[in-house]
Amino acid sequence: MDLIEEIARYRQLSSEELKAKIRAVKTRLGEKLVILGHHYQRDDIVELSDFRGDSFKLSKIASEQEKAEYIVFCGVHFMAESAAILAREGQKVFIPDTRAGCPMADMADISDVEQAWEQIAKATDIKKVVPIAYVNSDAELKAFCGRNNGACCTSSNADKLFKWAFSFAEKVFFFPDEHLGRNTSRRLGISEQELLLYQPELNLGGAEPSQIQKAKVILWNGYCHVHTFFKTEDVVKARKEFPSAKIIVHPETPREVVELVDATGSTEQIIKYVESQPQGSTIVVGTEIHLVERLAKQEKGRHNVYPLARSACPNMYKINLANLAITLERIEQAEKNWVNQVIVPEPIRSQAREALQRMLKYG
Ligand code: SF4
Repeated sequence: MDLIEEIARYRQLSSEELKAKIRAVKTRLGEKLVILGHHYQRDDIVELSDFRGDSFKLSKIASEQEKAEYIVFCGVHFMAESAAILAREGQKVFIPDTRAGCPMADMADISDVEQAWEQIAKATDIKKVVPIAYVNSDAELKAFCGRNNGACCTSSNADKLFKWAFSFAEKVFFFPDEHLGRNTSRRLGISEQELLLYQPELNLGGAEPSQIQKAKVILWNGYCHVHTFFKTEDVVKARKEFPSAKIIVHPETPREVVELVDATGSTEQIIKYVESQPQGSTIVVGTEIHLVERLAKQEKGRHNVYPLARSACPNMYKINLANLAITLERIEQAEKNWVNQVIVPEPIRSQAREALQRMLKYG
């Protein structure tokens, strides 16, 4: 059957019918199959995943799967790409919808980053600069870091990777998320004056050579629309509504908001923060709404959890029961009928692997 027709037919099925199909394939494939589900996925996808986590935790789990022949990543494309880069010989990685991308990852492409690197090299000694790619980036950017003695990082381990870079170099060139880079730098004691926002559309990123020479961290001007949605007014409103509440946001949130809250943390760190609060606490959380609502449900009776504002990632939402069921059934049916496999060609794969492995080693 044609894939389009199959998708249309599966969309007519109820959630229970689709879940039954997914569970049946899981049972038949057993240890050969592993489903990884990101925290921002819908509840029914999380429920059917073998492992749940943020991108750091899931990339570690993906690299540890010895028996699995098929890894199905329910998240966005760069996450499945990271799993494909770290996969063992013979393992195949799939994503239920290849259109589930990340707009922030698309804000830095390899030609722009290479051009920026050349421009920075004209202003300063490039051997003293370490490129660090947030994992929310294309495989080619990770490969760029791999071949230029750099590394990747996630929002869980950005501090550690920045410290690692500064142990042997003078500057970090960080892309694509300005806000994670800025929040990490400030936490490490780097002042606002030592940060430089690089604007790739302008000559030398819109800076003078002296500014590049002075900068400790050069930040790409990318952002996540889910987390830049949170504004200082949301914090003011939450403080008024819940005066005794703790407020935590994800570090992709702009600096002016971060300065007003009690804590920042990656999705995994947010979960731990909520769980560690004394019984009866109120916690306001600024991150993707599916995670906040799941936390509110899980903590009911122990804590009150509220969203700072409702902000959803539509790309994460592209993964659903219908496309997961079709992907799994096609995996099982016949090799030539595979759909949604994620392949990273060589030499990009090996170079990107080096950058990811440095992250796993030093993060
Ligand atoms: Fe990209 Fe933001 Fe969605 Fe994460 S939440 S996938 S960074 S757009």
